[in-house]
Amino acid sequence: MPRNIYELRLDELEDWVRDHGEAAYRARQLYGWVHKHLATGYDEVTVLPKRLRETLDAELPFAALTPIQELWTDDGETLKVLYQTADGQTLETVLMFYPDRATVCVSCQVGCAVGCSFCATGLMGLQRNLSAGEMVAQVVDMARRAREKGRPLTNLVMMGMGEPLANFENLVTALDLMLDDDAYGLSRRRVTVSTSGLVPALDRLRERCPVALAVSLHAPNDALRDVLVPINKKYPIRDLLAACERYLSAAPRDFITFEYVMLNGVNDSVALARELVQLVRNIPCKLNLIPFNAFTGSGYERSTVETISDFQDVLMQAGIITTIRKTRGDDIAAACGQLAGQVKDKTRR
Ligand code: SAH
Ligand code: SF4
Repeated sequence: MPRNIYELRLDELEDWVRDHGEAAYRARQLYGWVHKHLATGYDEVTVLPKRLRETLDAELPFAALTPIQELWTDDGETLKVLYQTADGQTLETVLMFYPDRATVCVSCQVGCAVGCSFCATGLMGLQRNLSAGEMVAQVVDMARRAREKGRPLTNLVMMGMGEPLANFENLVTALDLMLDDDAYGLSRRRVTVSTSGLVPALDRLRERCPVALAVSLHAPNDALRDVLVPINKKYPIRDLLAACERYLSAAPRDFITFEYVMLNGVNDSVALARELVQLVRNIPCKLNLIPFNAFTGSGYERSTVETISDFQDVLMQAGIITTIRKTRGDDIAAACGQLAGQVKDKTRR
């Protein structure tokens, strides 16, 4: 993969600058122009000498991702961009405007190996990990688009395509940049990693880069979760919840968000809601119910509004704050689990 400017941490930029016989402070200037001012090319970075800019352009180009398709929802509040990587893979990123914030939903892999049975990304299998630069490039591009609308980017969720904790080192490199005040300066509380529950990596995240955490629970017992989230066979619910409790000791927020997709007749009964209450009642948490977003061939249906509301009532009555996720970008296939890209299924070749 060709190197590009978004791949380098500040210390790596300093090495590069030094190797090219320039003063170290040039690295910091460059870093600020790339990640804070969101420059689109070296011609904008006029603080640097022209000669240096030419070398940079040749060795560390800006283009990491090329936007190939843009879709806005009718209400103009949600944008999905389809990007192409240098090696021809495609991935998707979503930008969502709310009255009080602008959130980017970032992809970390093309496809996903976890293979949750209700997820379009999971069904395509893992094509490859995204590099840190490819994650950063999504944020840069969306931050620019938000800025054009006069809106700063305030929140980031790792809820696009892929399992963030399965691409750990690249994830942490990208997150460090997002949190750096000299770069994107996002608050730890406003950066959320969502995971299907890779327990050892969850412990490493706690040590290396604690940010807000969302855990895709989707079922209150192992028998059902084994079917919906196959990684459960390796890291069953009890181990996962123990890791969640350890995570809380370092987390920037004092609760964990549990995500629970609402699948009609599968995991949405009142009895299961009660079982869920018993399971999580001793963990500081919030529940986020996600109405299933259908896609062709999924074999699942979305629970009815009434069922979701009954499920929510059981949790609320037990004192667990439970929200129902407002489905965003349904009409442009940008809702949760619909970000399958347009990648050919390599396994069939
Ligand atoms: N891989 C991570 C993050 C990705 S998606 C994870 O699994 O947590 C963010 C959320 O959307 C997850 O809770 C995921 O389970 C859920 N999701 C996946 N497919 C969905 C679908 N078709 N409808 C609704 N939610 C879905
Ligand atoms: Fe992967 Fe998350 Fe989809 Fe499961 S829900 S297949 S972990 S992207």
